Amino acid sequence: MKSKGTLGKVLRMVETFQPGFLALITVTRILASGQPFMMIYFDSVILDMLVQRAPLKEIMTVVIWMAGLSALLVLLRWGLEMPLVVKKSVISLKVEQMMCEKSCEMDYDLLSGSDTLDMRQRAWDGTYTNGDLGDFCELLATVIENICIIIYSGVLLFPLLIPGTGTGQSGLAGLLGKWYSGVFLLAAMALSLWLNSFANRRSAKIQQDIFEENVRNNRHMEYFRNFAFDYSHGKNIRIYKMADMILGAIKKNIVVMENLHQKMIRRIQKVKWINSVSALLLQFYSYLYVGLRAIYGQISIGSTLRYISAYQKLSQSVGCIFNMFIQLVVKSKYLVYFYNYLEIPNKRYVGTLPIEKRNDNRYEIEFRDVSFCYPESDKMVLSHISEKFTMGAKMAVVGPNGSGKSTFIKLLCRLYEPTEGEILLNGVNIQYYDFREYVKLFSVVFQDFELFAFSIAENVAASWEYDGEKVGDCIEKAGFSIKLRDMPEGIRTNLYQMEKKGVEISGGEAQKLAIARALYKDAPWVILDEPTSALDPVAEYEIYSRFDEMVQDKTSIYISHRMSSCRFCDTIYVFENGRIIQKGSHESLMKEEDGLYGKLWNAQAQYYKTS
Ligand code: ADP
Repeated sequence: MKSKGTLGKVLRMVETFQPGFLALITVTRILASGQPFMMIYFDSVILDMLVQRAPLKEIMTVVIWMAGLSALLVLLRWGLEMPLVVKKSVISLKVEQMMCEKSCEMDYDLLSGSDTLDMRQRAWDGTYTNGDLGDFCELLATVIENICIIIYSGVLLFPLLIPGTGTGQSGLAGLLGKWYSGVFLLAAMALSLWLNSFANRRSAKIQQDIFEENVRNNRHMEYFRNFAFDYSHGKNIRIYKMADMILGAIKKNIVVMENLHQKMIRRIQKVKWINSVSALLLQFYSYLYVGLRAIYGQISIGSTLRYISAYQKLSQSVGCIFNMFIQLVVKSKYLVYFYNYLEIPNKRYVGTLPIEKRNDNRYEIEFRDVSFCYPESDKMVLSHISEKFTMGAKMAVVGPNGSGKSTFIKLLCRLYEPTEGEILLNGVNIQYYDFREYVKLFSVVFQDFELFAFSIAENVAASWEYDGEKVGDCIEKAGFSIKLRDMPEGIRTNLYQMEKKGVEISGGEAQKLAIARALYKDAPWVILDEPTSALDPVAEYEIYSRFDEMVQDKTSIYISHRMSSCRFCDTIYVFENGRIIQKGSHESLMKEEDGLYGKLWNAQAQYYKTS
């Protein structure tokens, strides 16, 4: 995307976030930039009046006008600027909100891709390290302010270009009195500007090149910084004395980043001298010009003061505006990264078909010759799975680590698409169904389930709004109710220490809440991936003995290494190397000679045998 298009987009976005912000900032800057010129004008008038010995009353009238207008402008500016500060910070926060929104709605498989991670880092660094949208608006406002200064100083300087002030004089004085002598002054300014803009463009390019080189380093930095900050990593770091490794990685990164910064500064210094030299030359030339005209009596003392002050402001602003404009373009280039992130297309077809509402929960799913390999990997994790899943059945999936069990569930839940083959729901490829409706069919407790720093009830309902009675019922079924009695505010107790009264819970307790959340969703398919791995034996026993009551007529799939917990399932699927190599009831599988199921069962059972 080109930065040109971005400028328009940014302005539209700012206007959507905070209507009227741009108009307000423009008015404020017009007023802010006008005040010093008003002072310059009045100062020069008062000076001329003093030189011409004007009556005190007239002088005092001008002074009162000057003070009154100045106070009015200061008050207006003060009144307008306060709301602007708030609006600007809201705009900055909205950018963060949009990045979070994008990350939440992005295709799940894109979220972990290294390209996406680089793009997110670029977007983050581009908008935060190099000034966010709020700073962009501030810069825009400064450009507006400088345009106003140029217009105001142009108005004050205009009489200098009017011919006739030096008529009758000869030599240098005559030349200075000619109209074109002012044009030389403008030409000098144009040259200085050109030099300035050349130097600034070069520096901006250097900065952007270094920014690109730094993306990976920033990402590494953030990764290791999180380890150091996050208390959930703290125990491993302490027990395994990994602080040296983590800090070593951070230090190594800092050295690389420092070198890059030094390289940038060295390269920028090589062009920055141009700015200083051109500004000095221009200042010297302009003072000489106005000074000589004053000496030759072509302009009054008051006018000399006015011209010098106006010219100073004009040259500062013109230099500044170019610099600002280049910064604006550079910042919009960085904002392009932000837009690039927002515009990462979701590749998958989200589907439009509604899911047929069925009271009998007959949602039949079929894997038809499904194979799968993860993005950025060429290893087939699932190979040629063809299976119809019986409705209302209690199924189990067992198999060695890495045999593809969790991946199979991820495909079933449409978090990934099959690389080959298709998955059908009631005979239709699942990708044609509306994604949001499709996922309503599944209650899943993933191995790496997450609870969040919300209240217990909000976690269970996965929503701000909840049915308290239903939450209590699911908590009871999941075996968390005894613990709940100790909670200071019952189901309204906040989890984790984000809030002052937030509570910490154990891994097993968290797992029970995750099960309660799956029950609350009340979906026709219940999938539990190692649902009791963190539970104590009693809690595990309770969960399994109540499982029938929990899942009722729903279709359920357990993935478990606890072979005994799968024994009562109608069908057990045995995975190995991404294939289903056996299926059947416990009894039938045990009868298969040399079958993997029998080996897994016997391997586990021998630990429970008494000698
Ligand atoms: P299981 O649940 O049977 O233990 P998984 O389905 O989690 O096995 O993993 C199967 C294989 O897929 C493993 O070899 C694992 O390394 C690989 N794998 C899992 N997740 C990813 C991923 N996000 N990217 C690449 N490979 C993955």
